Amino acid sequence: MTLLARALTALSFSLSLAFSPAAATGEGGIIAPTLKLEGGMWFDGQKFVGADWYVVNGRFTESEPERIDATVNLEGRFVLPPLADAHNHDAQNIWSASRSIDKNLGSGVFYSGQMCASPSSVAGFRDLLNRPATLDVTFTGACISSSDGHPLGLVMRDQPDADPDDLRAGWTVVDTLEDIERVWGSISEQGPDLVKLILVNSENFAENRRNPALFGFNGLDPSLIAPLVERAHRDGARVVVHTDSAADFEVAVMAGADIIGHLPGYRFAGDMQPDDYRISDATIAEAAKHGTVVMTTAGVARYFLQAKPEHADALKSVQIDNLRRLHDAGVRLAIGSDQFAGTAVDEMLYLHALGVVPTTELIRLAVTDTPRLLFPDRKIGRFEEGMEASLVAYDANPIDDPAALRSPSLIINQGNLLAIGTAK
Ligand SMILES: [Zn+2]
Repeated sequence: MTLLARALTALSFSLSLAFSPAAATGEGGIIAPTLKLEGGMWFDGQKFVGADWYVVNGRFTESEPERIDATVNLEGRFVLPPLADAHNHDAQNIWSASRSIDKNLGSGVFYSGQMCASPSSVAGFRDLLNRPATLDVTFTGACISSSDGHPLGLVMRDQPDADPDDLRAGWTVVDTLEDIERVWGSISEQGPDLVKLILVNSENFAENRRNPALFGFNGLDPSLIAPLVERAHRDGARVVVHTDSAADFEVAVMAGADIIGHLPGYRFAGDMQPDDYRISDATIAEAAKHGTVVMTTAGVARYFLQAKPEHADALKSVQIDNLRRLHDAGVRLAIGSDQFAGTAVDEMLYLHALGVVPTTELIRLAVTDTPRLLFPDRKIGRFEEGMEASLVAYDANPIDDPAALRSPSLIINQGNLLAIGTAK
């Protein structure tokens, strides 16, 4: 931590104590200081430009207010809107949620999509989140798999003696069309924004179901995806589909899914071949036409490569080939890490190393497109009049040096200066 950052950290504490009762009270009853932010270089979606901004009631404004509680000199720092991680599982239970707040905020990640949560599993702690100075989370309102489907296999590995029926309580099981109607009432009651469906190597669905070694690692019957998407859309919920192979990707796109959870090519399952992960040009064209969003999660390849390092070159080629054709076709992308111990920054640096998406665009995906995907109704993702006053500042220019994203030196969350360093 630099001296200046330390000074600002100290300042942030004295600030919050020094307010008179006349100071504005923002959302959640937190005293919101009126700030002048001077000397910063601000990201405009393409480059960094010098400007001064004010923060009033937790919102950015260009108009100088009558009262300024404190002036923060950003001393030439490079300022981004906060980053988002569209795909993680690090705040789905109470044990990891509080750690995840520090891990993410300390990496400049303020927004997170938790991709296999059920309302009952997060009810006990969700109030810890989604308030100033914590992580803002979009939870899936339902996570739907088959009775022998992912993530049962992973959970059974951790709890081998548990009854599978108890373990399945963490998500919703659907094996037939009739099951959809049976389970939908309780899903509908929660008014979900987002529903997750799981597909795994669906081209071999029937065969894989008969293989005892794959019990717990399969996904939904692919013929149920279109009816499930239709049912979710009737409730106004968006649908994200966990995809593994190129065939899964195609089923999801053709069924009208809004979001694809994984770019195919992060692993080669069983004896599947690289070509099984190559998305067809026709499917890519369809995704572009429908505005389907693809969460990248490319960096999780490194976990699968620990078991099969010989796949490294072929995996990378498939990822580059898929990503290049999606990008060239104008398919919408979102930064998602799917790394329990990692963050959106790990995913960005992995994507940067693949060399397909230009750095400026990667940054725009992380700070504008992905936050807006998770929170379409919020004024976030750009420095404009009336936007939420959240920012992450860096000593080095992250367009020139993306590794600078690892070490923000100042963060402001909805008008609150937060300490850096305690989070790492
Ligand atoms: Zn995931």
